[in-house]
Amino acid sequence: MFFKTKKFERIVLLQKDVLDSILTYCQMKHPNEGILILKGKSKNGQIKIDGLVIPPFNETGPTFAGFPHSFLPLDMSYIGIVHSHPSGSAEPSVTDLHNFFGLVSLIVKSPYCDDSIFAWDSSGNSIPLSIE
Ligand SMILES: [Zn+2]
Repeated sequence: MFFKTKKFERIVLLQKDVLDSILTYCQMKHPNEGILILKGKSKNGQIKIDGLVIPPFNETGPTFAGFPHSFLPLDMSYIGIVHSHPSGSAEPSVTDLHNFFGLVSLIVKSPYCDDSIFAWDSSGNSIPLSIE
């Protein structure tokens, strides 16, 4: 008997120019949180991020960032959200997990460098992140 046991290793692939845009946006929003929608594709556990969208009607402050999901157009290329934590912790908060959108949540902590960004799933488990 044959069992399909192959388990896909999850990984987030982030384009370098997208990372740069995220970091610039978050620096601009500091000391408030910044929030952006991630565009990309997911295949065989690989989550490829290749674009960003500024969410409509977004509201941010020093400890929160959000937008009404009901205003989002139904777009299958929206695969997650990135937001910043000006406080300097990259751990997702309970609110972050509650408002989880898509497949992946990226969190950027201050001071917004190349290694200040982390990927999480909807259960708050970290996903390896690779900058391309
Ligand atoms: Zn948060």
